[in-house]
Amino acid sequence: MSSTNYKMVFLGETAVGKSSLVIRFVKGEFSPTQEPTVGAAFLAKKITIKNINYKLQIWDTAGQERYHSLAPMYYRGAHVAFVVYDITSPDTFENSKKWIKELKKLGDPNVHIVLVGNKIDLVQERMLKKEFCKSYADKNGLAFFETSAKTSENVDQLFLTTTELFSKTK
Ligand code: GDP
Repeated sequence: MSSTNYKMVFLGETAVGKSSLVIRFVKGEFSPTQEPTVGAAFLAKKITIKNINYKLQIWDTAGQERYHSLAPMYYRGAHVAFVVYDITSPDTFENSKKWIKELKKLGDPNVHIVLVGNKIDLVQERMLKKEFCKSYADKNGLAFFETSAKTSENVDQLFLTTTELFSKTK
């Protein structure tokens, strides 16, 4: 059966939960001691939505500044770029703004950017209001999700909704 290849890339500061989101979606697992990604990692998953088969090619990049120069290799040609921050850390939200600016300047003009606030299970430690971050996303024409890789809240929706939504507009 034929399937549409769909390239996705995860960007954002170290420890916001990029690897955890990818692993939660692809393998259905979560590790509290997730090892940092070195360079970039690749995972693939086949999904079917409304009788259409998709082969998701998911690139998980390392957030460390020393790997920054490698990032264009991964986001060029990507259909979707997920820019992840941690809702307990305003610095990571600031960092995501830098990624968004870079993607708009140097990414594929058709790339769909999705802003993702992760770790919503950490209710007591939340430092960033959902409305505040969503309004930034709206102003900048980005899709917006809040997720928890730990509890899996909204993780399937993140991947499935964006695949379905953006495959129609490509
Ligand atoms: P990455 O560097 O952005 O890929 O982040 P990791 O996936 O390596 O996660 C960094 C740390 O945050 C690890 O200790 C994870 O277990 C933890 N983590 C990731 N996602 C969540 C989440 O949704 N909730 C909580 N509480 N911890 C998370």
